[in-house]
Amino acid sequence: MSERSSVVTRFAPSPTGSLHIGGARTALFNFLYARHTGGKFLIRVEDTDRERSTPDAVKAIFDGLDWLGLTSDAEPVFQFTRADRHREAVQQMLDKGRAYRCFMTVEELEIEREKARSEGRAIRSAWRGRDPAEGGDKPYVVRFKGPLEGETLVDDLVKGPVRFQNKELDDLVLLRSDGNPTYNLAVVVDDHDMGVTHVIRGDDHLNNAARQTLLYQALDFEVPAFGHIPLIHGPDGAKLSKRHGAQAVAEFADMGYLAEAMRNYLARLGWGHGDDEIFTDAQAVEWFDVADVVKAPARLDWAKLNHINNHYIRLADDARLAELTLKVHRGRDARLPADAAERLRATIPLLKEGAKTIPELADLTIFALKMRPLALDAKTQQVLSDAETHGRMARLADHLAGVQSWTHGPLEAELKDFAAKEGVGLGKIGPALRGILSGGAPAPDLASTLAALGRDESIGRLQDALFKA
Ligand code: GLU
Repeated sequence: MSERSSVVTRFAPSPTGSLHIGGARTALFNFLYARHTGGKFLIRVEDTDRERSTPDAVKAIFDGLDWLGLTSDAEPVFQFTRADRHREAVQQMLDKGRAYRCFMTVEELEIEREKARSEGRAIRSAWRGRDPAEGGDKPYVVRFKGPLEGETLVDDLVKGPVRFQNKELDDLVLLRSDGNPTYNLAVVVDDHDMGVTHVIRGDDHLNNAARQTLLYQALDFEVPAFGHIPLIHGPDGAKLSKRHGAQAVAEFADMGYLAEAMRNYLARLGWGHGDDEIFTDAQAVEWFDVADVVKAPARLDWAKLNHINNHYIRLADDARLAELTLKVHRGRDARLPADAAERLRATIPLLKEGAKTIPELADLTIFALKMRPLALDAKTQQVLSDAETHGRMARLADHLAGVQSWTHGPLEAELKDFAAKEGVGLGKIGPALRGILSGGAPAPDLASTLAALGRDESIGRLQDALFKA
C-alpha cells in the first residue's frame, strides 16, 4: 500500500474581479495534481491589497470555483488576517540581518530608480549599510537584503531550469511604510505555513519565483517546487482580452456550458493525454502531471469547447437539463405554460444530441412550450388554405386520435400508414403537420415532435389550426 503523499497545492486568487478562465485553469491544475498524488488542494484569498479587494470579488471567485467543483480541502485562508504573522517573519529577517529599514524618500527613490536604470542594474538603497538610528522617527519601509552576487535557480517543473542573476534582483520591499506586508513576502510566509509543496500558477509570476526563493532561504524555509504555466491566449494567438469574448467563468456558465465540460476543456488548455479530447474527471486525475504541461501558450478554441459541451449535454441527466433550459426560457421573459418543466423533460431527450449549449437546447425546445392556440406562421397558413391539405389534416387528426401507443416508433409507423392510406408521400403531410405542431419554431422529426408534445397537446394543436383555418 502506498502512503498518502504529502503534496499540498494551492490556488491563491487576488479578489479584484471575477474568476477568469485562466485562474480557473490554474485552480484546476492544482486540484488535479493534488488528487493525482493523493495530496491536498488549498485555497488562499490574497486580499492584502485592501483597495482593490472586494467582498463581491471574493464571492464571485468562490461561486466560480464551487460551480467547477474545485473546493478546498481545508478552510480557505484569507491572507489579510495573517498580517501579524507576516510582520513577525520580517522581524526575524531584521534580527538576522537579512532585511533593513530604508528611509529613502519618494524623491530619493525616484532618483535612484533613474540611476539604476541608466546603469542597467537593480535598485539599491543607501540604507542597506546605514545605521537605522540615523533615520530617526521618519517613515521607513523594510527591504530585503538580497545577495549581490551569484545566481538563483528556479528549477521549474514546466519551464525547466531558469537562472536569475542576483545582482539584477532589487531589494524587495517587505513591509510598507504603513507596516503592511507586501505580496511577495506574504506569499512566502503563507505557502510555508500552509505546508504548500507545489506552487503551480501563471507564468506571469516566474520572476517572483526567484525573489521568493531568496526569501524562503533567508527565512530558513524549504523552497517549494514551482510550476509556471503559460497563459491562455485567444483563438488568434494574442493575449486573451475582452475582444475575444467571454473570460469570466460565470459568463461561460451563463452561455450554457456545463461545469464538467468546462473542466474537461480547461484541462486540455496546455495539458493533454495523447490525442484524447474527452475524458472523465477520474481519467484527468489519473493522468494529470504538472510536468506534462506544455511550454507554449494554449489557445482558446470555441469549436472544441462546443464539441466537448455537446458530448456532456448528451450524457447529462434530462431533469437537470430541463431545469437549466427552463432557466434560460424564464430569462427570455417568454410566457410559459404551468407545466413547462414537464414539457421540457419530455422533449429534451429527443433533441439534446443536437445542442452545443443550453441556450441552443432552449431554442430547440421553444415549440414544446408554446401555448394553445398557437399563432401559425404565414407559410403554414398558406399551406393550410389549400382545401385538400386542410381535409387531409382533419383526417390525420382523427387517425392520430386512434393511435394506441404514443411513442416515437409506433407514431412513425402510423404516419407512414396514414400517408399510404391517403395515397401520398410524407412530403404532402410533413410541412402542414410540422407547421401546425410547432407554430414555425424549429422542431425535431415529426414522430419525435408528436411524442414530445403528447397525444392531447398534439391533437389539440391540430384541431385549433383546423378550426382557425
Ligand atoms: N494572487 C496572485 C494572483 O492572483 C497569485 C499568487 C500566487 O499564485 O503565488 O495573481
